[in-house]
Amino acid sequence: MADKLIIFDTTLRDGEQSPGASMTKDEKLRIARQLERLKVDVIEAGFAASSNGDFEAVQSIAQAIKDSTICSLSRANDRDISRAAEALKGANSARIHTFIATSPLHMEKKLRMTPDQVLEQAKQSVRFARNLIGDIEFSPEDGYRSEMDFLCRVLEAVIAEGATTINVPDTVGYAIPELYGNFIKTLRERIPNSDKAIWSVHCHNDLGMAVANSLAGVKIGGARQVECTINGLGERAGNCSLEEVVMAVKTRKDYFGLEMGIDAQHIVAASRMVSQTTGFVVQPNKAVVGANAFAHASGIHQDGVLKARDTYEIMRAEDVGWSANKIVLGKLSGRNAFKQRLLELGVQLDSETDVNSAFAKFKELADRKSEIFDEDILALVSGESAANEQEQYGFVSLSQHSETGERPQATIVFTVGGKEVQGQSDGNGPVDASLKAIESHVKSGAEMVLYSVNAISGSTESQGEVTVRLQNSGRVVNGVGADPDIVVASAKAYISALNKLQSKADRVAAQG
Ligand SMILES: [Zn+2]
Repeated sequence: MADKLIIFDTTLRDGEQSPGASMTKDEKLRIARQLERLKVDVIEAGFAASSNGDFEAVQSIAQAIKDSTICSLSRANDRDISRAAEALKGANSARIHTFIATSPLHMEKKLRMTPDQVLEQAKQSVRFARNLIGDIEFSPEDGYRSEMDFLCRVLEAVIAEGATTINVPDTVGYAIPELYGNFIKTLRERIPNSDKAIWSVHCHNDLGMAVANSLAGVKIGGARQVECTINGLGERAGNCSLEEVVMAVKTRKDYFGLEMGIDAQHIVAASRMVSQTTGFVVQPNKAVVGANAFAHASGIHQDGVLKARDTYEIMRAEDVGWSANKIVLGKLSGRNAFKQRLLELGVQLDSETDVNSAFAKFKELADRKSEIFDEDILALVSGESAANEQEQYGFVSLSQHSETGERPQATIVFTVGGKEVQGQSDGNGPVDASLKAIESHVKSGAEMVLYSVNAISGSTESQGEVTVRLQNSGRVVNGVGADPDIVVASAKAYISALNKLQSKADRVAAQG
C-alpha cells in the first residue's frame, strides 16, 4: 500500500474558535459537505460538550456526511467524552479527539495538577473513550513546549490504552521547522510502542511557519496526519492552511513521495465558502487561493505563460478549481440553469423551497446587474442560509440621501422578531448614517472593531461584500452582507452581526 498522508480538517472546530468566525449549524453543515467533496479524510466538526449549539452541529454533520470520518473534540473527562460519543452516533465513521495539557506552564497555571495526575487522567480518559468508539486521537496540549521525558511517558501510556492517533500540537506557534520535525522524530524513536499509532502534526501560525512546521513534522518526523484549516483560519495568526499543505505535497511529490485522497479541484470553492461565511477575507497574494495566486486566471496573460506554461507556473490554476471569471448566467436564465450552476459550484440547498427562494433573489439581482458571476451566486446563497434561520433582525429596505456639502441622511426598515420597524439617522457618510439608523432602534451598544468592503468580482458593476466585526461584553462576531449597493450591503452585514451577537450562547473555551 502506498504511503498515505491523512488530511484532518479542523476549520469547523479550531478555525471557528477564532473570534468573529463563529458559524451557525447550517453554515457548518454546508462547509462540511464541501469538505466531503474535497475528500478530506477527517472532519473535526466541533467540540460537542462546549455548548448545545456545538453538540447539534456535530450531530447533524455526523448524520449527513458519509465519506469522511467525523471527529469531535473533547476534554479528558468522562462527561465530555460521553457527550462527544453521543453526538457522533449514526456517523459512518467516527473519532473522538481528547486532549489534556502536558507542558509545565499549562499543568501548573491552567490545570493546577501535578504531572502524575495529568498522566493518570490522560490514561483514564483514553480507556473510557476506547470503550465507546474504536478510533481515538489523543493530543497533549502545548505538546511542543512539554518536557520530553514526561511527554514520552504520557504518550506511551495512552497508546497502551488504545489511542490510535497521537497528535503533537504546537499550540502557541513557537516551533521552528527543523526543531519540530526532530521533536516528532525523537518521540517516535524513544516511545517503544510508537508504531501502534499514527502520528499527527497540529501547528499554529504565530511566526508564519505553520505550514513549514507541519511539512517538517511529516518529512523529518514521519507524521502521517496533518491538521489544518481552509484559508488557514484560526485564532491569532491562524492554523496551518489546508490548501498550502496539500499543494506542497502534490507539487513536490518528488520530495515527499506521499499519496493523498484530496480532490484539489474543490479547493477554491471551499476557500470562497469559508471566507464568505466567516467574513475573513483572503488576502490577494495568498498562496493557491488568493486572487493573484495565478495572475493569468484574472486575465493578465504573460507572454511567457502563453508560450510555455511551465516557464512561470508550478501548478495549474484549473487543478485547484480556478476557472476563468466567466459570465455564467443572466436575466434570461431559467430555474434549471440556476440549479445546475449551483450543483457545479458545489452548493447543495436543503429543500426545493430554499432553491425557489434563492432563485427569486437571483432574478432580483439579475434585474439590477446584467452579468452574474459565480462569485455573485455564492454570495447570494451564503446570504440565503442566514435568512432561513429564525433570526431576531431582518433587512427590509433602505433609503438614503447624500450630496456634497450636506450631511447624509438614512431611513431603514427592518424586522425585529418578525415585526417591521423603522429607524432614521444622519451620519458622516451614507454608510455611517444607515448603521446609526439601525442602532437608533436596536441600541446594542456594540463596538465596531472592523469594517471592510470588497468587490466580489472585480469591477464597479460587481456586488460589494461588506464585513462588519462587532464586539460586545467580551464577545466578537463577524457579519457579512452582499449587494450591488454597498450601503445596503453594509446594513445587511450590520444586521447579520447583530443576529450573531444575539444568538451565540457562551461556551466553553477550547485550546489544542
Ligand atoms: Zn489549535
